[in-house]
Amino acid sequence: MGEQKKGSMKFIVLLTVFVIGLVTVFVVLDNRGKQSAVTDTTSNQGLMSTENQPTLGDKDAPVQIVEFGDYKCPSCKAWSDQIYPQLKEDYIDTGDASLSFINVLFHGQGSALASKGGEAVYQLAPEAFWDFNKNLFEEQPENHDEQWVTEDKLVQVAKNSVENLDEEKFKESLSSDLVEEAVNTDEGLVEQYGVEQTPTVMINGQILENPFDYEKIKSVIDEELEDK
Ligand code: CA
Repeated sequence: MGEQKKGSMKFIVLLTVFVIGLVTVFVVLDNRGKQSAVTDTTSNQGLMSTENQPTLGDKDAPVQIVEFGDYKCPSCKAWSDQIYPQLKEDYIDTGDASLSFINVLFHGQGSALASKGGEAVYQLAPEAFWDFNKNLFEEQPENHDEQWVTEDKLVQVAKNSVENLDEEKFKESLSSDLVEEAVNTDEGLVEQYGVEQTPTVMINGQILENPFDYEKIKSVIDEELEDK
């Protein structure tokens, strides 16, 4: 082998090693990107802290379901109508799963005020939160862009949801620091879990692709229950 040929062989080998190295780096980086996109979702990095969050069912149930919802979002209203009652009957009332609600404020002022309504009810009468939640979604008009969330509306819905509601206390609570902090906490969770659409439903840390696919919801929950 001549010196020149040896040299070019060496070059080819080095080039090959370099290309393989480069491809490996890209694959690793690419996978890392994919992993970080699902880090807080499919990984079982522990459950979300639902302390001070309205939670239906047994807080220590083996399956934790979290709904990220916005009172002004029409799909959330649909989820509340169609999926929530089934889920409650099949898994929450049985003690297999808990359901927590986290506010999402994707529709501006209305979302913020409605969230405060929910948090105020939760402060004053935690057991009435889920009735308020359902009743407020029911108030969402056909045209969800309408400015339908007002203080009067919240008072009316709260009155229908909370037994012997102290109206003045509720109004005070709406603008209290405690309620504002609770809403801020939820906004932080929305960011932390990378929530980009509503409703987003998470089961034991795994975000569902389609929160309306009840069969899929069932299979994810059943799988989690089997693992316990
Ligand atoms: Ca909250």
